[in-house]
Amino acid sequence: MRPHVFVNAAMSADGKLSTYERRQVKISGPADFRRVDRLRAGADGVMVGIGTVLADDPSLTVKDPALVASREVDGRGPQPARIVVDSHARIPLDAAVLHRGDGLRVVAVSEAAPGEKRAALEEFATVVVAGRDRVDLALLLERLYSLGIRRLMVEGGGTLIAGLAKAGLVDELYVYVGNMIIGGSTAPTLADGDGLSAAEPFVRLALASVTPCEEGVLLHWRVEKRE
Ligand code: NAP
Repeated sequence: MRPHVFVNAAMSADGKLSTYERRQVKISGPADFRRVDRLRAGADGVMVGIGTVLADDPSLTVKDPALVASREVDGRGPQPARIVVDSHARIPLDAAVLHRGDGLRVVAVSEAAPGEKRAALEEFATVVVAGRDRVDLALLLERLYSLGIRRLMVEGGGTLIAGLAKAGLVDELYVYVGNMIIGGSTAPTLADGDGLSAAEPFVRLALASVTPCEEGVLLHWRVEKRE
């Protein structure tokens, strides 16, 4: 069993998540920020790849105090679990995600992660070992399910999104398309990694809704089940 997985990301009109220097860009505005906060508040866990932690140092916490309070009223704890996919335990011990906000933190590593760093991380997080050299995402999701995570929000970046999509582990996709062109052939896109070849089945999506929002548009896609 695995959690229901939904991805949320913001990209420029040309499909970039950030600049070629991997610098965070403000692609959407306050209305979209509130939508993302509500999505977070409705999730049991929020997950990112280590590339995003190293580039942006996000806390991944729910910001609106009313949403935090309503989680507590529902007995779900003030914050969703925060999960970082990090095969070699590269996460800095002072990363915001390990310190800001209450609740469960999970660092998912592979067997190749150095034992000393794993031990140091255990002071701040639950360390889950899944996979030999790289995190085995299917196994990780099973482990997260056994930790009680039923709705998992994935906030990027493009390498992690691609890994999950390729493995058939994404159910829904929310993409905010902002009114800018960032450009750059090496700038992160919505789905990076190695990509799929023409000989492989692509990940097919069904359009659930299109909603104009501020100066851009929110696309909601459902991922079609594979045969
Ligand atoms: P990422 O997707 O956050 O993390 C990728 C890393 O995850 C991999 O390099 C790999 O590192 C680890 N990983 C472990 N197992 C994996 C697996 N099975 N499949 C895939 N990845 C696995 O990093 P990124 O692609 O470099 O994206 C970071 C950029 O995206 C930043 O510039 C950030 O600003 C941007 N971003 C933008 C948004 C947005 O909505 N606009 C959201 C998030 C991030 P190891 O091998 O070391 O484990």
